[in-house]
Amino acid sequence: MEINEVFYNLGSPVYSSDVAMSRANPVEYINPVFLPGIYCPKCNDLWASSSRVRIDETVSKKVSDILQSHNLPDFGVQLDQFQSLCKEMALATNIPLKMLEPGVDLCPPEGLIRNTKVKDFTHPFPGLIWVKGSVKASLEEAKLQGITFVKVNLKWTGKMKNSTEAVPELWEIVVNGKAWLEGSNLETITACSMCGRTEFLWGKNPKVDKTRWDGSDVFYVDDNPNIVIVTEKVKEILDYGKFTNFDCKTI
Ligand SMILES: [Zn+2]
Repeated sequence: MEINEVFYNLGSPVYSSDVAMSRANPVEYINPVFLPGIYCPKCNDLWASSSRVRIDETVSKKVSDILQSHNLPDFGVQLDQFQSLCKEMALATNIPLKMLEPGVDLCPPEGLIRNTKVKDFTHPFPGLIWVKGSVKASLEEAKLQGITFVKVNLKWTGKMKNSTEAVPELWEIVVNGKAWLEGSNLETITACSMCGRTEFLWGKNPKVDKTRWDGSDVFYVDDNPNIVIVTEKVKEILDYGKFTNFDCKTI
């Protein structure tokens, strides 16, 4: 662990327009299985996180069957109903209870793709990064900490909908590393003690607290799945590979 470690926010580059952004990212994320949100009486609102837990097809099917057996409303459920649902789910699937957040996606990644001209990186959603096999190979070769990959189940859409051409192969970056920003802790990110709703602050000058960084090359800060942080080592690999459609911003 270097003392002068520099960190970067890995994400999309700045696009000149929405059209340019859409053209560079011809994909749409699909989450077929997810937990309901919670309707919280204290917040007087519905809460759902944007977390994603990548489990295999079989476990995801189990989750889906349990959800269907409960005949849940389209929108959020009450807190006590959510808690009993999660207990049942954890027992049946062995997914740790703490991962069963309101709204969490519990499925392998799926997506729709509009054309064949896919860049090395695609960004269907903030913090959600899909890459080509060449990017995956370069990162895997470096034996990095805190990153794994899962293949995205892609289908053609739009003008390509009935195409018999093979869909491009893309891999989702699964981020396993963790750290906290200076000044953040579980208390500061918890906006409501009743439903556990979290709120992420990404100030002007966010700094990773190196004493609360697990040493991973790829990690989330403050449990925020919308922002991916990487080390200099990762940036160097990506720069060296001259990959397209990504940006590493110094933080
Ligand atoms: Zn609440």
